[in-house]
Amino acid sequence: MKKKKKAIRKKRVLLAIILIVVAIYVTIIVTQNNQNREQPVLAEKEEIVAVFPEEVFGVPVKTKLIELGKEGRPGVKREIKYIVIHETGNFEKGTDAESHSILLTENSNDSTSWHYTVDDHEIYHHIPDDEVAWHAGDGVKNGGGNINGIGIELCVNSDGDFEETFDNATKLVAYLLDAYNLSTDAIKKHGDFISKDCPNTIIKENRMDEFIKKVKEYQEAM
Ligand SMILES: [Zn+2]
Repeated sequence: MKKKKKAIRKKRVLLAIILIVVAIYVTIIVTQNNQNREQPVLAEKEEIVAVFPEEVFGVPVKTKLIELGKEGRPGVKREIKYIVIHETGNFEKGTDAESHSILLTENSNDSTSWHYTVDDHEIYHHIPDDEVAWHAGDGVKNGGGNINGIGIELCVNSDGDFEETFDNATKLVAYLLDAYNLSTDAIKKHGDFISKDCPNTIIKENRMDEFIKKVKEYQEAM
């Protein structure tokens, strides 16, 4: 009898151990499954949707995209990390945003391209923001200006008002930072990616801090 009782107790202990092991195993599996299930939800949240504004703070934005597949618009999707500020360097009369749009969409076989051109009264949108463009001069460098930046050209045509262009560009940048959930640290000069004095006037007159301050003011007004 005693032996039988001992055997039963042994079996119960064994059963209890098996149950505990199974319980731990199930807990681990469930936890892992939950972790796996959470990841795609996060990825969906992070997915960017390119914006096509019709105006920013009252400044009209005209979308006239470069044809997909042209050298300047390879159609490569990417993550947006920076807003890269440039100046066209074209001081000639009439070299406003519209003329640069015509250059990019109709005349140019050049690979050089960027996302927006800003002048003293309007903005042209040339390439969707979630696609690569060739404006920063750093090739296909990972984390570089081309691969991860939205290129914005400010017109410097001699018959334009650069102060208005400067102001319009800060409006566009405030809008884009908000649209893509970026901080003002994302605002870069072309010269931050390669050794080049671009945006030339802003660098020469040491106005980058003023530019960022204005962007912040527009962000607060949103
Ligand atoms: Zn530049």
